[in-house]
Amino acid sequence: DYIMRADKLEYTYPDGTKALRGLTLALPRGKRIAFLGPNGAGKSTFFLHLNGLNRPSRGSLFFQDQPYRYDGKSLKQLRQQVGLVFQDPDNQLFSASVSEDVAFGPFNLELPAQEITRRVETALRITNLWELKDKPTHFLSVGQKKRVALAGVLAMKPEVIVLDEPTANLDPKHTGIIMNILTELNNAGKTIIISTHDLDIALSWADYLFVLKNGGLLAEGTPREIFANE
Ligand code: ADP
Ligand code: ADP
Repeated sequence: DYIMRADKLEYTYPDGTKALRGLTLALPRGKRIAFLGPNGAGKSTFFLHLNGLNRPSRGSLFFQDQPYRYDGKSLKQLRQQVGLVFQDPDNQLFSASVSEDVAFGPFNLELPAQEITRRVETALRITNLWELKDKPTHFLSVGQKKRVALAGVLAMKPEVIVLDEPTANLDPKHTGIIMNILTELNNAGKTIIISTHDLDIALSWADYLFVLKNGGLLAEGTPREIFANE
């Protein structure tokens, strides 16, 4: 059972860099999925396609067998279903305080004030940020900022959460905190998709792996299948 898939996806940046070269894959629903591969393999570029921030140069994407559409209304719907947490949280945090940042998405959806408050509180509790809710975001550590960015995505109640290198630049303690949160979200039924260079996470946390290289798919399978062939 697949939630999303890409068919012969190609993407060329405006400067001519071919970042994706015919990527075809299907993302299993409800799993803990990790993307591996060297820097420049195309992981970030692919993730930007999953929530519609990048639009394919050629090929197509599907969410539950519906082809992606790129009009404003479809993109707004897509971003409620697929949340993306960037590698660098400074690209995602804009507001004065933690709770304002987390409220940004639901506020833009024009949800009733009560519903916004409820979603922000839930998201802050899941990410262990409740005590920091009134702090200015620039005051936080990298690990805390990554959790604020995740909380902002959770406040949209997406079915799929995509995180670009969620543990990059984090110490073991903050790595553990974030991976535990992702495990709980997966246990609650969400499909979690990450990229990582941490083979330990790939082996012990993920239940399905994709290995990208040079904008294409090098291998896919369970961690046991992938690492047996190394
Ligand atoms: P990673 O490989 O870990 O995703 P990079 O260091 O490649 O990170 O990229 C960091 C940022 O720089 C990203 O936002 C990416 O889109 C951008 N970037 C990477 N390569 C280029 C490039 N050749 N030209 C312009 N921007 C780039
Ligand atoms: P990964 O996330 O696997 O490190 P990326 O998707 O960041 O890979 O990069 C794929 C290719 O696209 C690389 O050659 C990278 O330099 C290039 N690239 C990434 N962002 C940009 C950008 N904004 N402009 C031009 N080239 C880019």
